[in-house]
Amino acid sequence: MYDHSHDSARALPHIRARADIDQVRLAHALGATLDQCLTCEETALALLAESASTTAYLIEIASAAVLGTLGGFPIDFVDTGAEHSPVPSVFRHAAVAFARNGRPALARMCEQGSPARC
Ligand SMILES: [Zn+2]
Repeated sequence: MYDHSHDSARALPHIRARADIDQVRLAHALGATLDQCLTCEETALALLAESASTTAYLIEIASAAVLGTLGGFPIDFVDTGAEHSPVPSVFRHAAVAFARNGRPALARMCEQGSPARC
């Protein structure tokens, strides 16, 4: 699948073992992102998107990181009506779902949508 690996995400403290999370795909996607390997990042995110629960978890930890760092979501993260936002529309909708109703709403959104929608 890959000709090299990205282990940068192993040291991240907020990745918890959960039976419904594909730890290998999550670690590879985060590691590729942290290592700025765009080739692996694209492939890893496509593979990760096949798991709704892992995708929801990635959005959850990304949202928690933003909330923990900034104390709230910047408008670009939650303005679902913006036509030229630097944040993908799918992520904005997911962030709003998480902000309003927490993990269950985000999980529902990912389970109901196609992989590309979450
Ligand atoms: Zn790579």
